[in-house]
Amino acid sequence: MTPETLFYILIGIIVLNFIVDQILDALNAKHYNDQLPAVLQDVYDDEEYQRSQAYKKTRYKFGILSSTFSLLITLAFFFLDGFAIVDEFARNISNNPILIALIFFGSIMLASDILTTPFSYYSTFVIEEKFGFNKTTKKTFFLDKLKGWLMGAILGGGILALIIWFYQLTGENFWIFAWILVAVFSLFLNMFYSKLIVPLFNKQTPLEEGSLRNKIEEYAKNVGFTLDNIFIIDGSKRSTKANAYFSGFGKEKRITLFDTLVNDLEEDEIVAVLAHEVGHYKKKHIIFNLTASIITTGFTLWLLSLFVGNPLLSEALGVNQPSFHIGLIAFGILYTPISEITGLLMNLLSRKFEYQADRYAQKTWNAADLVSSLKKLSSKSLSNLTPHKAYVFFHFSHPTLLQRIQHLKASEKNSF
Ligand SMILES: [Zn+2]
Repeated sequence: MTPETLFYILIGIIVLNFIVDQILDALNAKHYNDQLPAVLQDVYDDEEYQRSQAYKKTRYKFGILSSTFSLLITLAFFFLDGFAIVDEFARNISNNPILIALIFFGSIMLASDILTTPFSYYSTFVIEEKFGFNKTTKKTFFLDKLKGWLMGAILGGGILALIIWFYQLTGENFWIFAWILVAVFSLFLNMFYSKLIVPLFNKQTPLEEGSLRNKIEEYAKNVGFTLDNIFIIDGSKRSTKANAYFSGFGKEKRITLFDTLVNDLEEDEIVAVLAHEVGHYKKKHIIFNLTASIITTGFTLWLLSLFVGNPLLSEALGVNQPSFHIGLIAFGILYTPISEITGLLMNLLSRKFEYQADRYAQKTWNAADLVSSLKKLSSKSLSNLTPHKAYVFFHFSHPTLLQRIQHLKASEKNSF
């Protein structure tokens, strides 16, 4: 294969990916005005429904604009030998391959972040603001950016430096060591995410004594779940949208509730949401997801080890001197179709897990509270009640609200 052929294959992958996404978005948008199913009629009142329709349309148009912009910038970068220019820039600063790679990725990521900042600024302060979601101040917005860059530089830079170091020491076998490193790191991160990373961005306070805490503790005791850590996070610092999540395992496991969730839902509904999260834990979904992601990482790194030393990758990107970082870029793009497929499978599985967690909440608490909490959360976030099947298949990590309600109803019938 000539470098030129490979160059056009890379471009082809990027463009195809864009087109598929646009088709899915357009299909989805065509069904915004579909008739609401009977069980979802009570999610919105008329006025709120109008607002949700307007929100979806605004988001859709904005999505077209920002993804087209990204595509054009990416293509320009490829056709104007951007990688060669940045590679040379890094080589003028240092002779050390690790430093060169760090400068190379650092510059590209910083530049791309700066270029897309106007879009995220508009999204937060114009669109989300207009629909009443935004609570972020400009100070928080820019501080978040700075913290994100710093964290990316330290964590991402550290891991990249170590991986290249392994590559220098062990050649093709670097992937085994890189795999161990990434696996240990992701276990560590999962375990201490709430203690180490979240505090950089949010305040977390233990759920105070009172009827909600009593209810939750009683529920946890009933299902034999040791739960010492229930935290409220100040999600309202950025947005009115509500959420709850589970993190860590063993002694470190904890449930985090957004303050917005606690404000929007009744106590029994909050227990239902929590019961769903406990379901994920009890059904071992968290361990399973971690294992799956570690296996995928190993496979990806192994594939990378087969390709990364091939000078064809660098030549395709117009760079004469082969290097790990240029190989990594080309490989990253070649890998997109595979990562699309693994992403698809993970979504498929994740939707299955959601049903299981819903079922667990139904069995150990009740379905009615879960359904009304899901409806409230959908309505508060002006979410789309009529997504297109194909869109759900490709993008949704959760079943649609309708599917979840139908599933709960079906399993209710079966249990009698
Ligand atoms: Zn879930």
